[in-house]
Amino acid sequence: MSEYPDYHLLVPTERASFNTCFYCGCIASEHDFAPPLKYRDFFLSTQEPADFVKIPSCRECFEHLKSCKAGALEERRVYAKKKLAKKYEKALNIFEMWTEEELAALDFSLSHSIAAGLKLGLETTERLNFPGFNYEAAGINHQVHYHLSASFDVFGESYSSFREALDYASKAYRIPKFTLKEYYAEHGNSFEKAIHAVHRETAAKEFQKQLTTLCQQFAKQHKQSVIFVHKQVERYLTENDTLSISQALGKLYDERIHPAATRKR
Ligand SMILES: [Zn+2]
Repeated sequence: MSEYPDYHLLVPTERASFNTCFYCGCIASEHDFAPPLKYRDFFLSTQEPADFVKIPSCRECFEHLKSCKAGALEERRVYAKKKLAKKYEKALNIFEMWTEEELAALDFSLSHSIAAGLKLGLETTERLNFPGFNYEAAGINHQVHYHLSASFDVFGESYSSFREALDYASKAYRIPKFTLKEYYAEHGNSFEKAIHAVHRETAAKEFQKQLTTLCQQFAKQHKQSVIFVHKQVERYLTENDTLSISQALGKLYDERIHPAATRKR
């Protein structure tokens, strides 16, 4: 007779999965309960969704799940992964941002500390991606269907991990990883939208820079106020968006500078 008769032990179907944490794939040393033992009566009396299984779990996942009240295995699985991701956030960031080749280019002490983060980040990624295993509980077979079908596309190139996609996109489109990652999150988790947005902003900045430089040169050459030149040129450009900055300056010269100079003579 089991110690907790309402719960069925989740037994891996394949030998290779014995003593494995169902949540992350590490060595199991504990048992997690879905629902938690202290909420057993609550779930039994309310019939809220609960699996009543006893789950092989590693020490870390076991500790993380102490604060989880969920009764369903899947909910607990999601919770455990979230906690892991949160705990190793820094290492995961390093793992996403750096590759081994980039590391080789750094000086020793820096590369050493990043290498440690990279290793931990890789381990954590594997634990987060661990799909669980097929199991039997109460004589019923359960196939685990959590497969990671996520793919990350960058203009037709497809990658199975965010990290690889980020590395490719950053190199191919010459955008720093940090910037690209932020834009990715801000633009609907799409590399394509992120890259377009970065390019649009870069082009807009470049245009403003050019506008300022050309207006300053023009103002100096024709002894005009920079503000006046700037305002006029902007007005021309707004009125006719096919004009280039030089064309707008030409128009300004023809309409305002040249007639005034002629009058003075
Ligand atoms: Zn675990």
